Amino acid sequence: RVTTTSAAHSVTESDRKHVFHSWSAQSQIAPAEVVSAQGSHFELADGSRYLDFSSQLVNVNIGYQHPKLVAAIQEQAGRLLTVSPAFANDARSEAARLIAELAPGDLDSVFFTNGGAEATENAMRMARLHTGRQKVLTTYRSYHGATAGAIAATGEPRRWASEPSVPGIVHFWGPYLYRSAFHATSEEEECARALQHLRDTIMVEGAATVAAVMLETVVGTNGVLVPPAGYLAGVREICDEHGIVLIADEVMAGFGRCGEWFAVDRWGVTPDLICFAKGVNSGYVPLGGVVISAEIASTFADRPYPGGLTYSGHPLACASAVASIGIFKEEGILEHVRGVEETVLRPGLEAIADRHPSVGEVRGVGFMYAVELVRSRRTREPLVPFNASGPAAKPMAEFVAACKENGLWPFVHFNRTHVVPPCTTTAAEMRQGLEMLDAALDVADRHTTD
Ligand code: PLP
Repeated sequence: RVTTTSAAHSVTESDRKHVFHSWSAQSQIAPAEVVSAQGSHFELADGSRYLDFSSQLVNVNIGYQHPKLVAAIQEQAGRLLTVSPAFANDARSEAARLIAELAPGDLDSVFFTNGGAEATENAMRMARLHTGRQKVLTTYRSYHGATAGAIAATGEPRRWASEPSVPGIVHFWGPYLYRSAFHATSEEEECARALQHLRDTIMVEGAATVAAVMLETVVGTNGVLVPPAGYLAGVREICDEHGIVLIADEVMAGFGRCGEWFAVDRWGVTPDLICFAKGVNSGYVPLGGVVISAEIASTFADRPYPGGLTYSGHPLACASAVASIGIFKEEGILEHVRGVEETVLRPGLEAIADRHPSVGEVRGVGFMYAVELVRSRRTREPLVPFNASGPAAKPMAEFVAACKENGLWPFVHFNRTHVVPPCTTTAAEMRQGLEMLDAALDVADRHTTD
């Protein structure tokens, strides 16, 4: 444990006095103290232990304290800890080479950042400079990070408090059949209408003013919205037609989460830029980045790229990415995700949906699933209203409490619980977690009105 100057300074006391937490009213929170973690579980100071169905913030893809990853970080720490971005360095070169090798098409260069928001910021900057255009189109149901440009690009309510914000962002509707913005009744219809809506948006915005379309390949926090067959290929086609850069934000969906290195691989689509972070090294050391197509990289061949970070390509972070990618390959983690999804996760969630009237829909891919909770399956009225907080969000709070009582740490957002455990979660742990989820859903069922 971290040495404190006096035993009187308890962790939670100092936390409440001195730590300013994200997204929170500081007097209304009581952060639980994590003392240890291993594999798919973590333990709190009060001795309670949880199976983690959230992977913290959907980043611990390799599980907690993977011994080989810990050893690689220790080895790099003993050798060379910090080198400015202007130098070359073995850990950075190797991380970039491996990521470029895994990325589709000619996405062969990597700009490293410390996390996801800096990745989307820089991707948008690259697209604007490459095209000489200003606007970036993103979907309403999206999260792209919390820095000025990234929060402007974000479509969901966390953007509101930062408005009016950076100009040049235009939001549109992506596909989401269960709550279709297009009154569609089939995946095919949803796909065709969502593509037409994007075409129309570009038409009225003026194609010559649009630098980029930025999409989460699979929308993460805002619903686990898996694109219907043909949607991403359709967006690629529209972008090509107008010389618009396609940015895939895979900060959450990449590096195993969807059972692929990059989620776009599932649909065989090659974007111009891919943003990554989280799963690239499971957040053991902060790292993110942008993988860049040859064409966009060539824009900056003889013209300086006007962007940088003191810790871009930090050796400790890069060494952990190299080790993590190696472990994924050695241990067949992508294959493991696909196998457990097929045999345990999807059938398990479908059975849960059959048993619980509060489950409106289950959907997802890999180890990235959402269970959407409703008051009524008939009307699809959500269990709690959009962006609910306080008393209005009580049914979800009760569900969360029930999960925790059962030993499960859930990920919830609005009226959904997401099933996003570490990609190393075993079939037996997944079954256990689904049983705990199943039991907790009885609490949500009490709020149904059908
Ligand atoms: N993009 C997506 C899709 C994300 O899910 C997130 C974080 O949840 C971000 C960007 C921002 O990443 P970070 O919190 O590392 O800045």
